Order: sequence, then structure tokens, then C-alpha cells
Amino acid sequence: MTRTTPAGQPHGFATRQVHAGRGSDGPGGVNARATPIYLSAGFVFDDFDQARDRFGGADDGFTYTRIGNPTNSSVERRIAALESGREAILVGSGQAAVSVAVLALLKAGDHLVSANSIYEGSRGLFVENLGRLGIETSFVAEHNDPLAWELAIRPSTRALFVESIPNPKNDLVDLALVAGVAHRHGIPLIVDNTFATPYLLRPLEHGADVVVHSASKFLAGHGSVLGGAIVSGDGFDWAGQTPQAAHASGAPLFPHLTEPAHALGGASYVERFGPDAFAVYARDVVASRLGPTPSPLNAFLIEQGIETLSLRVDRQSATALAIARWLDEQPGVESVDHAGLASNPHHALAERYLPVGQGSVFSFTLAGGADAARRFIDSVALFTRMTHLGDVRSLIIHPASTTHAYRSAEQLAEAGIWPGLIRLSIGVEDAGDLLADLEQALEASGAAAPATAAPAGAPAAAPAVADPAVV
Ligand SMILES: *Cc1c(COP(=O)(O)O)cnc(C)c1O
Repeated sequence: MTRTTPAGQPHGFATRQVHAGRGSDGPGGVNARATPIYLSAGFVFDDFDQARDRFGGADDGFTYTRIGNPTNSSVERRIAALESGREAILVGSGQAAVSVAVLALLKAGDHLVSANSIYEGSRGLFVENLGRLGIETSFVAEHNDPLAWELAIRPSTRALFVESIPNPKNDLVDLALVAGVAHRHGIPLIVDNTFATPYLLRPLEHGADVVVHSASKFLAGHGSVLGGAIVSGDGFDWAGQTPQAAHASGAPLFPHLTEPAHALGGASYVERFGPDAFAVYARDVVASRLGPTPSPLNAFLIEQGIETLSLRVDRQSATALAIARWLDEQPGVESVDHAGLASNPHHALAERYLPVGQGSVFSFTLAGGADAARRFIDSVALFTRMTHLGDVRSLIIHPASTTHAYRSAEQLAEAGIWPGLIRLSIGVEDAGDLLADLEQALEASGAAAPATAAPAGAPAAAPAVADPAVV
């Protein structure tokens, strides 16, 4: 039941990431400076009346960790403040965050429209799991074409879903444009902001209504735990009567938020909680019942990561851009999908939405196809072969044979995921060391000899690219 509305935001991002939402130990606490890890299933009631009031809502203290936990609440307040949101709900994984966000809005018979460029796990969730529950999803390939969204929207559509930086092609989404389409139909836009992080982009400031995260990635950053978050924004009218609703049945878009709720003594979620109706329903009715509760230990570890988010992402973004520029000049490299490159078709969107940095997960395509990709990936020594991203360590993977292996050859070609495409997630190592590793892997891959290859017998030197951490 604990609310996480951040109380004003007087500070800058780096300050917020270490201070926002900090609670206290409470009465009798010892005033620990770091957030204490409350590894406790439940919390003591002082007396009969307090127990009754906590269940009844008159006292919003803690009862049971699946409903709320002080460590988890601290991380929720921090994430809400960083995303410019009202409320955040911490859950056990990014998949849980997407599930809870969608299930807090849609029911059997409702329809979701999603960009085609989303994470494969979310795609599987929509098609297979939600499909079996009677929630149908349509996919839009041209996610910056308003007409494509308009054509996919039906009277039963209840939300639009995109990722701010899709993977592995970095084909950025024009958030204001998609939000505009959603709002013309009176429906909310959900944005998965995992790849951008709130440091580079805050979708709620561009018209999104709900943001979700896999906290397992950049927010934690250390690659030690899984976690996820749902963040709600301001401004969406959860009781809105729209032309679309009238067209469907005259019924409200979200009856579970506008009809009398037994748990609220006959009030509706909108009457009781106004702009927080979605967040309270997502927390109290969806997350707490489905039960993807994060361990407070994991919540603590996520918060430890968040405290250095901007430092890591700044460096990762700068190094990634330097590496993308270097790859772009190599003869064996056919193309580089990094929106920070001036030649990239999404560069104008990057300048508008990602002025601070364009992220650090991107792909490039080797001219030599799958064989060259195999030799390249088997030759790296510093990069880790792994399916993860946003880690302090640099990671490498071949999407066509791993993360996107369920797609047909046709679907892969449509998405531009060629046999020679390799995805990198750049960590915080020295840029020169990463470049040297890529250079020797490129040579070993049999692609055209790199322009900056060291003469035979010479010690492996870092390629002549400025280390962004130094300049
Ligand atoms: C990893 C990821 C998810 C799923 O998150 P988990 O924490 O692995 O469950 C969802 N969306 C995106 C964009 C991701 O990268």
C-alpha cells in the first residue's frame, strides 16, 4: 500500500540518483546512511487496531513484503524521481514489469498495438502468453509512421507499446509522434526505456504515460541481479470517455479503474486515487496478486547500481560512439547501426531525443556473413560472449543465431538482422583496450584487413582513436 510519489525534484540527475527518495530507519532506527536491507517476510503490528488499520488502509505502514517492503520502496522512490514519474513499482524482472503494466490495463478481448522492434521476450509474452489469455497484439513495422499505427488501432485497442531504443538496430522511436497517435484515441503509450535509461531519455517528458524497465541491465549495471520497474506519469485521464470507447460499446476504456471496487468500499480507483489510479491498481491488484516480488537484497543491489548510473552511462555512450566510428571506417564492416553516427537514418531523432548520449548497445554487420561473425565472436578475448547488456563489462552476441533465433529468415531480413550482424554492449573498460580486442577479432574474422592493422610482429597497440575517457 506504500505510495512512492516523489516530493518535488529540486536537484539534478546525478544528485537525485544518490539522494532521491531516501527514507529513514523509522522510530528507533539507527540511521544507517545506506538503505538497510529489510530481509523480512512480514512486519510486526503493535496491536489489534494497528493490524486492522493496515489491512483497511487507514494506516499505510508495512504488512507483508509481497505488498510492500521498506528497501523495495526506497528503490521505487528513487526510480520514480529519475524518470520524472509519479509512482514506481519494483518487480522481480523486466519481463514481470512488462507483464504487470499490460495486465493492469488490458483484459481478455482487449487489443494491444506494439512496435515490431521490441525485445524478443516481450514479443513472446504478447503473442504466446497474453494471446492465450485472450489479449491480442498487432505489430507495427514502420514505428515512426503515424498511419501505420492508425491502421492497426481498433475499437478494442487499449494501449500502444514501444521501446525507446530498439535493439539491435537502434532504429529510434519518435516518442512524441506515437504518443500523439495514442492520445488521439484516448489510450496510453507504454515505453520500455531499458536501453536508454532515465539518464539519457525520460519518455514521460515526451508524452509517454507508463515507462517500464528491465533493472537487470543499466539500472543495476553490475550484472548480478534481475529486476524490473513500472513507472507511471502525469496527465493521462484514466477515466477518459473517448470517441473510441463510445464507438466500441459506450463503455469506459478501463472499467476496472472507473467502476466501484469492493476493496475500496465502493469507490473506484479513479475516484480514490485520481492520476495514480493505474499505479495503485498495478501495485495492489496485479503485482501483489501475481507475485513477482523482488527480494529486498536484490532491491538493495539495484539501488547500489543506480547511484552510479549517469557516470557509467556517460562513459559507456562515449566509448560506444568512438567504437562505432572506428568500425564504420573498417573495410570488412558493411554497416554500423548506431544513431550517433551522422550517416545513420535515425541521427535526427538521436539529436532530438538523445542529446546527452546515444546509448552503448549497437550492432554492426560484417561483409563476410555468418562465417565471419562466428570467427569474429570466437576471437574476442576481452569482450564477454553473453546475452545481457548494460553491464560494466563489454558483451558480444550474434542475434540471428541466439536472441532472434525464433524469427524466420524472412522476418530477420525484414528487421535488418543479417547473418553477419553482431551486437555489442559496451562496458566501462578503457576504450583503447576494447578497440584493440575488436581490431584483432576483425583481422581473425577474415574480413578485409583493417586499415589500422599493426605490422606483423609488432606489439598489439591500441588503434589510433582517442580514448573518450581521456579527451
Ligand atoms: C532484458 C530486457 C527485458 C526483460 O528483462 P529481464 O530483466 O531480463 O526480465 C525487457 N525489455 C528489454 C528492452 C530488455 O532488454
